[in-house]
Amino acid sequence: MTGNIFSKTTIDYGSIVNKDAQYVMQTYTRQPIALDSGSGSVVFDTNGKEYVDCVAGVAVNNVGHCHPRVVEAIKQQAERLIHVSNLYYTGIQANLAEQLVSLSNMDRVFFCNSGTEAIEAAMKLARITTKKTDFVAADNSFHGRTMGALSVTHKEMYRTPFEPLVRDVTFVPYNNAESITDAITGNTAAVILEPIQGEGGINIPSGDYLKAVREVCDDTDTLLIFDEVQTGFGRTGKWFCKEHFDVVPDIMTMAKALGGGFPMGAIAAKDDITFGKSEHGSTFGGSPLACAASLGAIEAIREEKLVERSKDMGAYFKARLGNLRRDDLVEVRGRGLMIGVELNTKCTDIVDYALEHGVLLNCTSDSVIRIAPPLVITKEQIDMVVDVIEQA
Ligand SMILES: *Cc1c(COP(=O)(O)O)cnc(C)c1O
Repeated sequence: MTGNIFSKTTIDYGSIVNKDAQYVMQTYTRQPIALDSGSGSVVFDTNGKEYVDCVAGVAVNNVGHCHPRVVEAIKQQAERLIHVSNLYYTGIQANLAEQLVSLSNMDRVFFCNSGTEAIEAAMKLARITTKKTDFVAADNSFHGRTMGALSVTHKEMYRTPFEPLVRDVTFVPYNNAESITDAITGNTAAVILEPIQGEGGINIPSGDYLKAVREVCDDTDTLLIFDEVQTGFGRTGKWFCKEHFDVVPDIMTMAKALGGGFPMGAIAAKDDITFGKSEHGSTFGGSPLACAASLGAIEAIREEKLVERSKDMGAYFKARLGNLRRDDLVEVRGRGLMIGVELNTKCTDIVDYALEHGVLLNCTSDSVIRIAPPLVITKEQIDMVVDVIEQA
């Protein structure tokens, strides 16, 4: 191998699609573009066409694409140490743990590499802590694709082909605390909920729901797990979504925006809820490079006040979308820059039209356009996106 990797990856769209079709398992329904570079809230395809990105790698690129703080952190760390395993301490992992504990108001963290792994860790931790086995999860939940996480994910289409999964998971309607009271048994280890449902269609619970669930869990000695994989790191206008509802979970999961675009996951837990020696582990979890990227991203969120910005830009975006002149508009809902536009038609045509007109959008649960741009998006970019959705 000679030369740099970019001379080999910058190939035309048609050849990329052909190679993908031949060499990559065809699990994804991809949009008909190949992305090549990005900066802030925009990305460029291999033809040099520019897009305002309202997907952000599925709520990952909160600080924007290639944020200088993240790029610099990765560069510096890459020249120093990339990976060492968890057989050894590193200063950078200890520092990130301290930061995450402080930001999340929890007590200890465990590092892994993705959202689904964070869910696996949370489920194992709940079982080993309580010595109970069962879980209660919500209708329309999404927690990931590995066997444990899939067991608490609601969608039949994802689950059924892979059964038997972890048994003894009871699904209850979201935003209904009484149904949780009924579902909890003497063998329920934990209730697992997204504080706002993402993949399920940007479903926001009423103000007292999570508080009521917390009470039920306390009364029955059941742990409460919040899946903040999608809602974390400023996405909803708070560092973590739980702050909107003033509820403290026993365990929370993080991933997506945690690494500033670099793959990373973690759980954080309260008090004495913790793994003991050898009870869990990960080769890559909390690698120096991942921790550097994450520290860079956290610094960027602080410096640019992106949590506040998410709140303000989210309010602006929602107000503009609320006045959308579309006959098929049902509802606009969201917190911060996690916004759902529900239509009474399928939204795939709008996604296609937007792509043609320079906007990346994505739909969840068929009829909800999910808008989750980088938190650095500008008012001008928001105006442009709203115009495109209106014309679509
Ligand atoms: C994306 C997501 C996951 C899974 O994360 P992966 O990194 O794709 O494994 C889990 N929970 C929620 C709420 C998510 O949005």
